Amino acid sequence: MADVKFKNIKKVFSGNVTAVSGVNLEVKDKEFMVLLGPSGCGKSTTLRALAGLETPTSGDILLGDKSVINIPAKDRDIAMVFQNYALYPHMNVYGNLAFALKLRRYSRAEIERRVNEAAQILGISHLLKRKPKEISGGERQRVAVGRAIVRKPQAFLFDEPLSNLDAKLRVQMRTEIKKLHIKIKATMLYVTHDQTEAMTLGDRVAIMKNGKLLQVDTPLDVYDKPVNKFVAGFIGSPPMNFIDGTLYKSNGALYFQEKDGFNLKVPEQAQDKLFDYLNQDITLGIRPENLYDKLFASYATPDNTLAATCDVIETMGSQNHLFLTTKSHTLIAVVDASNKPTVGSRVEIVFDTKKMHFFDPSTENTIV
Ligand code: ATP
Repeated sequence: MADVKFKNIKKVFSGNVTAVSGVNLEVKDKEFMVLLGPSGCGKSTTLRALAGLETPTSGDILLGDKSVINIPAKDRDIAMVFQNYALYPHMNVYGNLAFALKLRRYSRAEIERRVNEAAQILGISHLLKRKPKEISGGERQRVAVGRAIVRKPQAFLFDEPLSNLDAKLRVQMRTEIKKLHIKIKATMLYVTHDQTEAMTLGDRVAIMKNGKLLQVDTPLDVYDKPVNKFVAGFIGSPPMNFIDGTLYKSNGALYFQEKDGFNLKVPEQAQDKLFDYLNQDITLGIRPENLYDKLFASYATPDNTLAATCDVIETMGSQNHLFLTTKSHTLIAVVDASNKPTVGSRVEIVFDTKKMHFFDPSTENTIV
């Protein structure tokens, strides 16, 4: 196994489409790195550049200490699992698993040993004689992963490998991939636009937008300390609530005032960084799980509470999602299942103000 370094990778396609604009990223040996971002942000192109399937316009990629930029894809010692699995339909599962090893002229005994080992790791030993059309989507996905495992490559690349599976199987296979990483301790790069997949799988998550890397951090850090409003809104489901307003000072304390009226006191520890924004526009962010119904919050004060109307309740089983409106904003609160206000009623909503985020409205960067 090896570490991977992307050094200022740029890719401009014909027609002057800039897919990747200066990505610098280090993936540690044995790390599970997830590239996350919306459709078209350049994550697949970045991954394909490492696999040798795209040639970067500029920049370098190192596998271990060696630049791979001039090495053909087939010689890079990297295995990639594609979204459509790309299995050979006329070969049985054994043939599919063995194919890359035969090409590389491994001995028959070694091929058999590696195929059986991979099949056992993935629980597909009983399927070896079947053709791809005779196995289920989840099993095909396992075979696709098995083809990567048998090669014992320096790095595994996954390009949205779960998107063709139904929701239940996707969750199951996600766990399988996580277990596989723990078992074989390999360097893995995984591309997805699904933030839940990214959060559950990644040792670290690299978030991309418009060909640029915005943040590379552990799942918890991207969640708790997003670098900007885009990351804050992209990570988390339901997404973070955003409220535009201004900051003012009263009796030495800072208050956030929503345009249509309500005020929230800014906790002391956040005040220092916010004084530059005094009497200016600012965007407040608060996650749905940091909003509470006053009936269920012990620390409600006029400085952290506002009135809203509950428009819709989505019952999730263990939780309820409350869709609330103030005069000019819609907010989502995730509350306990026992907290079920009447639809259309007024609800006093308490903010856990220590969990508030503030963003510069022009740059959208996090202030605190
Ligand atoms: P998705 O999640 O939809 O696969 P992505 O984040 O992986 O998206 P890329 O596939 O890397 O995005 O594409 C990045 C940008 O480059 C997009 O605007 C895309 O249209 C463009 N692009 C990708 N491949 C080519 C190509 N061969 N020729 C021209 N433009 C391309």
